[in-house]
Amino acid sequence: MGFDAVRGQARAVEVLTRAVASGRVAHAYAFVGPSGVGRKLTALAFAQALLCSAPLTLPSPPGGGEDKGEGVNACGTCRACRKVERGVHPDLMLIGPTPPESNPRGTVAIRLDTIRELERWAQLCPAEGPWKVFIVDDAGKMTPETPQAFLKTLEEPPPRTVIILILSQTRELPATVLSRCQVVRFVPLEEEETVALLEARGMDGPTARLLARASQGRPGLALAQDPGVWVEQREQALSILAEVEAGGAGPLFKWAESLGRDRAQVEQLIANWWFWYRAILCAKAGGDPRLLIHGDRQAQLTAAAAGRSWEELFQDLGSCRDAWQALQGNVSPRLTLETILSRLLLRAA
Ligand SMILES: [Zn+2]
Repeated sequence: MGFDAVRGQARAVEVLTRAVASGRVAHAYAFVGPSGVGRKLTALAFAQALLCSAPLTLPSPPGGGEDKGEGVNACGTCRACRKVERGVHPDLMLIGPTPPESNPRGTVAIRLDTIRELERWAQLCPAEGPWKVFIVDDAGKMTPETPQAFLKTLEEPPPRTVIILILSQTRELPATVLSRCQVVRFVPLEEEETVALLEARGMDGPTARLLARASQGRPGLALAQDPGVWVEQREQALSILAEVEAGGAGPLFKWAESLGRDRAQVEQLIANWWFWYRAILCAKAGGDPRLLIHGDRQAQLTAAAAGRSWEELFQDLGSCRDAWQALQGNVSPRLTLETILSRLLLRAA
């Protein structure tokens, strides 16, 4: 493990390894970036470097830059490092969203009780290492009353405590909480980096390429699901589109009703449609089909490209983009689905 395992996050790794090396470690960090790019892996590497009893000095931290200060990585072999890897280090606490106690199938969230437990534990001295490290995964999923309680810990941080909040966007938490954290940004990986990482995990070349593109540089997402599921999702996205184009309002409202409660599924549909219209656009421009996610559907793409004007295709891509932004802005998934399908349908009519 350690920072060696982190790919494509040179800037974040540089900031964190230098913090360990200099001893100027912030009380709280917010790791902000899309899921599946290595935020949690980096948080664990950071915790390991902080807790390691024989850390290694890196001559120059990955990422370069003008400042050639030293960085530090965990040794990976000492007792503390092995405990971190096995998830049993007493000074490392991982927190994530849980369902309500009364309803194990209810909505998961970071609850007041969990934060109170964190507070209580943060007051104690480290058991073995020099630090106590708390990693709060999906920190944006706090129940409404939780950030206020959490603020107390952030305002008067117990000594030798490091809290790492993992979230997708800064606006998931109130500014009062975020302003007390050092924000570390995470970015999607380059396509070649993603392909290499997926191949190193045993995926064959063409599948790795397909999923690197489909996951948009988020290898964690590509690894989290069976490649077969991705193919099924694409089939569903394209068949809904064909059905609505052919059948009009009936199928439109049927799909909006049956899928409209699931934000993640609607996001995935819109992403698929965006890639599909982009592939048609590339096909119309005479692009190399091997470079497209949907390169395996060349005949269908060519036919679709011939049947649409440039203007129509740009409009369709615009509709997908607007729908994506609406979802990120908390518009209901059902309304978003109705709107985008209406726009695509009106264009098709
Ligand atoms: Zn170590």
